[in-house]
Amino acid sequence: MNESSVVVIGGGLAGLVAARRLAVQGYQVMLFEQRSSLGGRVRSHTVDGFTLDEGFQVLFTSYPAVQRELETEALQLRYFTPGAIIARPNSRSVLADPLRDPRSALASIQNDEVTFTDKLRTLLLRQHVESRSETEIFESPDKSIREYLRSWGFSKQYINNFISPFYGGITLDRTLSTSKRVFEYTFKSLATGRTAIPAAGMGTIAKQLESRARTAGVSIVTNRSVESIHRTNSGVDIETENDSISADAGVIATDPKEATRLSGVTSIPTDARGSVTQYYRLPFDKNPISSTKLLLNAESASPNTIAPLSSVAPEYAPPGESLLSATFIHESAQHRSPDRLAEETRETLSAWYPDTSWADLEVVETTAVPFAQFAQPPGIHNQLPDVDAPDGPLYLAGDYTTWSAIQGALRSGREAAGAVHRDFPSSVWTILDNSIEPS
Ligand SMILES: Cc1cc2nc3c(=O)[nH]c(=O)nc-3n(C[C@H](O)[C@H](O)[C@H](O)COP(=O)(O)OP(=O)(O)OC[C@H]3O[C@@H](n4cnc5c(N)ncnc54)[C@H](O)[C@@H]3O)c2cc1C
Repeated sequence: MNESSVVVIGGGLAGLVAARRLAVQGYQVMLFEQRSSLGGRVRSHTVDGFTLDEGFQVLFTSYPAVQRELETEALQLRYFTPGAIIARPNSRSVLADPLRDPRSALASIQNDEVTFTDKLRTLLLRQHVESRSETEIFESPDKSIREYLRSWGFSKQYINNFISPFYGGITLDRTLSTSKRVFEYTFKSLATGRTAIPAAGMGTIAKQLESRARTAGVSIVTNRSVESIHRTNSGVDIETENDSISADAGVIATDPKEATRLSGVTSIPTDARGSVTQYYRLPFDKNPISSTKLLLNAESASPNTIAPLSSVAPEYAPPGESLLSATFIHESAQHRSPDRLAEETRETLSAWYPDTSWADLEVVETTAVPFAQFAQPPGIHNQLPDVDAPDGPLYLAGDYTTWSAIQGALRSGREAAGAVHRDFPSSVWTILDNSIEPS
């Protein structure tokens, strides 16, 4: 039995993975989370029988860390059909991967939003990225996604009509100024796996990690914000709002801004990419969108994408209803009223589906997430801190040690646990104030 004690600060995906892995190895682990529930940026709740994720996001099943850390079968995944629908006023056209969605192959080949040469280049690009590992991709020379695609010879038309809304939606940056490494890795992930949402919402991912952490013996304290951490001769002292405890080591698994404050590590990236997602209900028999493909706005970022959520996962809506979401990624959306955003969505859908009335489209909720990912300009991944960047027995776990995605967060949690394990063979922890009650 390893009796070393570790406090994990933050119960997002990275913190939950680090905590579980350490507990499995016999450490005494206590996790503090400032919010009332775990999951950080990956969470869901229900409103009137609708499942709403905290901002539109999806799980790529081919992420190696997803296979390693999650029991994917238990998540009851529901799948988007590969490819997308490129939409503009009076026109919707399917762009699919003919190898993975043969039913859409003909429509895709005939799609004139994209040139024939672009389609061939896409197959070559796919071969190029499929053979490369995450490490190879993230250590390769970098440039922006736009420059990278231009250097491959893709047309402006392809970049603007498809890549900009699709990968702009993934990177929350429609200008495509983000690192091409993120593009290459997500392109590879899309080509080799599936895009999914769990039947009961993305929050199921966090719930499963929480359950696995508790089973491994992690003591979890919610509604408890850590205010500071001090290194001592024998380890660390952690001050929460009303307690102080000592442990052999601390893992800071908060969001980047808070991690910078707590650790003093200045290489943690804190520039944000945000989004606003608006959720809408529509009577099932009035919803013309039966496709399980994402709809891309070829003309504007308002909204950038429309996701037919209940077509993909019928469990997201109660019987007789449909659930759609619209995601706005331009920063200005965070300053527009929910009514204005709903109006933009109605106008957009009316232009895409001129024969349909969208008068019954009703807002269920508007979710603004100012810090969804950290900004990832070219070269940034070379400057990110290592998990053991802080001095002393302090470690970092969070997407900001790898790259901003579920894969990055899960991998970082594992690497932080590995670093603690390397440095801390054994000891016991002391509760200075025994008012701490694991929840
Ligand atoms: C809208 C949106 C869309 C996204 N889309 C995708 C996608 O499609 N695919 C993908 O792979 N990724 C996506 N991401 C990114 C992905 O969700 C994140 O990279 C990942 O969840 C980050 O996890 P984390 O554990 O590093 O940090 P966080 O989730 O930020 O967790 C940090 C935790 O620390 C807690 N905390 C902070 N300060 C303290 C304190 N002082 N004391 C105690 N607790 C504290 C916070 O409350 C939080 O629970 C998206 C994110 C958002 C928000």
